[in-house]
Amino acid sequence: MSDSPDCLFCKIASGEIPADVVHRDTQVTAFRDINPHAPVHVLRVPNQHIESISALRPQHDALMGSVLRAAAQVAAAEGIDQSGYRLLSNTGRQGGQVVMHLHVHLLGGRQMRWPPG
Ligand code: 5GP
Ligand code: ZN
Repeated sequence: MSDSPDCLFCKIASGEIPADVVHRDTQVTAFRDINPHAPVHVLRVPNQHIESISALRPQHDALMGSVLRAAAQVAAAEGIDQSGYRLLSNTGRQGGQVVMHLHVHLLGGRQMRWPPG
């Protein structure tokens, strides 16, 4: 069952829609981006539907800690914890958010550039 009936990432988190899942626990799901922009491009989402960073409330603090800590675990599993990586969460229209379920991109395996476009 999806948290939010029409949400793609709710459906991936619940397993209703398949994805290349690299980590899943009761709080967080991590899966490979379907259109990767780096050799490692993994998305990490809370299993519950939260629209974006802007929708976070104090009760989500522990959950977001898990979302971020899972990054280090995935990075280590992918072998990029020593070389480094980038985390980002596109938020809202001008932030470039397309899927309206909070997600954190983990990008690595190549040199990142700054500033982003
Ligand atoms: P946003 O622009 O919202 O931060 O990023 C959404 C990301 O979700 C994009 O990088 C896009 O490639 C990825 N994406 C969109 N649809 C799917 C899908 O069905 N499966 C997977 N694994 N990734 C998706
Ligand atoms: Zn959702």
